[in-house]
Formats: sequence, C-alpha cells, structure tokens
Amino acid sequence: MSKSGSGNIKLSQSHISEMVKVLPPSGIRKFFDLLSSIEGVISLGVGEPDYVTPWHICEAAIFSLEKGYTMYTSNKGTPELRAELSKDLYSRFGLDYNTDDELLITVGVSEGLDLTMRAILNPGDEVIMPDPCYVAYPASASLAGGVPVRIPTTEENNFEITAADIEPRITPRTKAILIGYPANPTGAVLSKQGLIEIAELAKRHDLLVISDEIYGRLVYGVEHTCLATLPGMKDRTVLLNGFSKAYAMTGWRIGYAASSKEIIGAMTKIHQYTIMCAPTMAQMAALEALKVDDDEVEEMVRDYDRRRRIIVKGFRDIGLSCFEPKGAFYAFPSIKVTGMTSEEFAEKLLWEEKVAVVPGTAFGQCGEGYLRCCYATALPDIEEALKRMGRFVKKHSKK
Ligand code: PLP
Repeated sequence: MSKSGSGNIKLSQSHISEMVKVLPPSGIRKFFDLLSSIEGVISLGVGEPDYVTPWHICEAAIFSLEKGYTMYTSNKGTPELRAELSKDLYSRFGLDYNTDDELLITVGVSEGLDLTMRAILNPGDEVIMPDPCYVAYPASASLAGGVPVRIPTTEENNFEITAADIEPRITPRTKAILIGYPANPTGAVLSKQGLIEIAELAKRHDLLVISDEIYGRLVYGVEHTCLATLPGMKDRTVLLNGFSKAYAMTGWRIGYAASSKEIIGAMTKIHQYTIMCAPTMAQMAALEALKVDDDEVEEMVRDYDRRRRIIVKGFRDIGLSCFEPKGAFYAFPSIKVTGMTSEEFAEKLLWEEKVAVVPGTAFGQCGEGYLRCCYATALPDIEEALKRMGRFVKKHSKK
C-alpha cells in the first residue's frame, strides 16, 4: 500500500466494493455538477418544490427544539406521529394500519426504498420496474444484491407499465414489482384498471408490490389510487411515502413505510442498526403537517397545475411534442425532431442557452429522445427557459 505526500493512505480502486464500482453515478447529479461553473443558468433540473415549507410546520419544529426534544425517539418513530399517520391513511384511503407494527418512520422514501430492498431480497432475486423510472429504483435493488429487471414503457402507452408486459418477465427469481406513480420522470399516472391488473398479477404469482406514492397528492384532473386499497393488497404492498414533495419538505428528510408486520419488522431491524430513528425535529414537523388542514398543499397543487399547462403548451408551441403529464411536477418533452440524443441536447442547451434540463436517459434507455423538465420553478423562469429552448430548437431542428 503506498502513501500520499500528506501522510494519508493513498486509496485505490481495490479498496472499493465491486458492487459500488459497477454502479453508474446518478445521471441527475452527474449533469448538475456542471451547473455550478456556469453563470445565469435557468434550471428545470432538480426535482424539488420551489416553495419553502409552510411556516406552521417550521414553527412546530422550532417549538420542539425549544422544549428540548433533541434526543433519539423510538426506532419506529414517535408514537404520536405513527398514530397520526395511521389516522391519516384511514381517513384518506380507509386503510387500517396498526401503529405498533405496521408503520415505520423513515429518512424519506429514499431510506424506505433501501430498507425494503434489503429486507426482502436474497442475492440474485429480481425486482421488476419500469423504464424510464426514478434513478434510485434500480440502484437500490442492485445495492441490496438484487437484479433490476426493466420493463420498457412508451409515450404511445402513456408511459404506463402493464401487467401484460410484466408477466412474460416473471421468473422463479422474481420477488417484487416496484412501481412509482405519479411517475418521475414522465408525470404519468397509472389508471385504476392498470393497477388492478398489476395487483391481480402479483397475487397470481405471489409477488410483493413496492409502491412509491410520494407524488400521490400531486395529481391534475385525475385521481390517484393507493395500491394498498385494492382487494387483498394491503399486506402484499410496501407503501412508501413521505413529506418531501407535497409539503415542500425535501430537506427535512422524513417519510414512512406501511406494510404487513412481517415486512415492517424486517425493515425495522435494519433501520435500528443503520439509522436508529428519523430526525426528531423532522418528526415533530411531520406531525404538524398531518394534523393541520391541507389548504397550503392544495394551493401548491393548483399552482403546479397552472405551470404544468404553460410548460406543456410552451413545448408544443416551439415544435416539441409533449406527453401530457397528469401528476408530479415534471414534463417529458420529446426532442426526436432535432435528431440529437438526449445527452447531446441537454449538454448543448446548457452551453448555448444556459438552460439546465435532465437527459431522459438518466432514467433508463427508454428515456432516449426525451428530456425531464421540472416545472416546480418560478413562472418567469419557465417562460424565459421556453424562449431560450425555442431559439435552440429552431437552430438545431433537422430541415
Ligand atoms: N421517489 C421519487 C419518485 C422521487 O422522485 C424522489 C425524489 O426526487 C424520492 C422518492 C425521494 O424522496 P425522499 O425525499 O422522501 O427521500
């Protein structure tokens, strides 16, 4: 082992795990590292609300600090938060989760996803998921020793994963189907009928379904169906959700998992050793978010909807066809008319017009020919970005 000049051990690739070595870096972060070096960029890149957390929620956290709530909580989360969550899931969906052993407070959906994979997968087990999909889905399965199996989805099929497409990919190693609707990056919402068919398939093949419903509150003119409400699905579903998107609380790092006591018990064991508990202050804030009326969430949803209509129309007006997103806060316009790859388009756009978007391929091969554009961005910025993109598309469109 060699030493560097500073006296520290000089580390080499041989010190890094083989699994991590082959894991590709997140296509979102990789691209955004470029951003910091360029001035005057309008970003439609990072997927988070441009709102700050409603003040009454911040106040609850500040108050909890003033009262001295600065210690660990129960591993599963405070009993008060779990009780409120149980009430919330019952009032919104009629789902009856036991606060003692069917709910776990996590460090966002991110931790919930990681715990689920580690709790259910043996090495080589397969997890079926859509392509394109949120970047952490395949990575979390791989990191837990599993194998992500991607099911192509297309614009023609509204980017919906279907039971008919899943069934031929089921093998004796398939353990679970992972879905996340409303979807990042496409904004697609799976129809209730589509969900019913996936639920029936899961029951027929005795599979678990992991359902990331973090954008469940952000739907426009359609209804979100919680997968666990479908007949026979409550114990078969690992419902993941959190406060990041609906309550503009990305930095608080707070979410939850709801499932059978066997699955939650297994996840809690890992959580005990790795995390201990979600941040106490964030749990106090989440409790307040659940307790108080949802007027602010509804106002944010109305505002996202306004921006959604403007950006979709804007893309179509500049000659890019654009799938109509029905949920989340992403538009997924096609750039196929330009003949460029997604990566080429995004990189050139950044240098030539200073607009940051994410290449669709960051979310899987089926994202080729598309861009992810987050419209949780101030309206004047969206309008300016559209103007610059219009200029860019005109310049680069194939004659
Ligand atoms: N799931 C999806 C689909 C997301 O888009 C994101 C963040 O962008 C997350 C989960 C992460 O959520 P959290 O902040 O609760 O960890």
